[in-house]
Amino acid sequence: MTSRLLHRGRATPPMAVSGHGCWLRDSGGREVLDASGGAAVSCLGHAHPDVVAAVQKQVAALEYAHTGFFTNEPAERLGEALLGHEPGGLSRAYFVSGGSEAMEAALKLARQHFVEKGEPGRTRFIARRQSYHGNTLGALALGGNAARRAPYAPILADAFSHVSAAFPYRGMREGEDEAAYVARLAGELEAEFQRLGPAKVAAFVAETVVGATAGCVAAPTGYFKAVREICDRHGALLILDEVMSGMGRTGTLHAWEQEGIAPDIQAIAKGLGGGYQPIGAILMNDRVLAPIMAGSGAFQHGHTYLSHPVACAAALAVQEVIARDGLLDRVQAMGARLEAGLVERFGNHRHVGDIRGRGLFRAIELVADRSTRAPFEPTRKLNLRIRDEAFARGLAVYPGGGTVDGARGDHILLAPPYIAGEAEIDLIVERLGEAVDAALAA
Ligand code: PLP
Repeated sequence: MTSRLLHRGRATPPMAVSGHGCWLRDSGGREVLDASGGAAVSCLGHAHPDVVAAVQKQVAALEYAHTGFFTNEPAERLGEALLGHEPGGLSRAYFVSGGSEAMEAALKLARQHFVEKGEPGRTRFIARRQSYHGNTLGALALGGNAARRAPYAPILADAFSHVSAAFPYRGMREGEDEAAYVARLAGELEAEFQRLGPAKVAAFVAETVVGATAGCVAAPTGYFKAVREICDRHGALLILDEVMSGMGRTGTLHAWEQEGIAPDIQAIAKGLGGGYQPIGAILMNDRVLAPIMAGSGAFQHGHTYLSHPVACAAALAVQEVIARDGLLDRVQAMGARLEAGLVERFGNHRHVGDIRGRGLFRAIELVADRSTRAPFEPTRKLNLRIRDEAFARGLAVYPGGGTVDGARGDHILLAPPYIAGEAEIDLIVERLGEAVDAALAA
């Protein structure tokens, strides 16, 4: 049968027909170990009975009710589950259908905050090169990934500017320690505020742990404290994009918990609903909402599927299972096992320059030369070759690579489900090892 779908590549991919636990099965009966949870989505793996039951129950009771007229129970309960204890002062949630929608909402909320506060001159957002915040036009303009932006540059809004990513492996200079590196990055951000005019900046936006564009890159200690201080000093908001790194993926529910700071607005998605339904959200603190509540009284934004009852019911079930089964502890334990396995397999590999990440959010970066950290030629498409070699061995991994100060680095991102067992973690390392060597030999 000819596929009528516009696929991502020329070929029609194999058809996935079912899943169970960490495994996906295609129409030919082949089983693939889902080592990246798709794109860091499937945190509970596939066909989790509790989530399936919650979705079935909700769709039978109420599939949809427009938020212009109604709220609904799953959305209210999900809001309470996420924010009942007001983590980091975050007190309200706004449920959308995915990560890009969440980031668009975050930008608009920040803008409306300042308009209603009487600071309409704050029109600028500072983000980082080596970042991805989504594919819709606002989110794409915000992101700093040159390759993804290039074809659309003429139609992207220019309210956005970019500073260096916090990327120790690629960004730290010889002889520089972490503190000096953080000070240099903070100085660069401060200089960007000054260049734009501090009273013109609405927010600084960053992924707490960079996902797809750089491959599980955590900032050096003290970086987020420094950027939080700069934002506060200039009256700007801090927006953290935890679409990929949030909801337990790094071993704490929010990745910012490990940084000793909290954002004003946070975007979450993927691990929120674990893929059982499309859902994303922004979480915000009272400070962001205060001028809006005192002014117009409403966020001027909306989508048809806000607070979708079935999506919220799925996400609520996912979050309840994570809490009930103590899966954050498991992410830490299995994350440590995955890291140890990667270090053992690739620590001395001549073409693996860096092994990094947190929790069950890990990556290896491939280099042509370990001593100079020179990447492979982009034309070699090593990351895609490794993905294909892995897939041929029944392992799904997430390839990436981005422009890093003019040099492209290939990386492979791993984000297995939180329920992965020891044998599955070990199998990921084993099959990835074979795939890397096969791709390099080709
Ligand atoms: N932000 C980050 C950090 C992401 O990784 C992604 C997707 O990969 C997005 C935003 C966009 O999310 P979505 O693809 O659900 O629109």
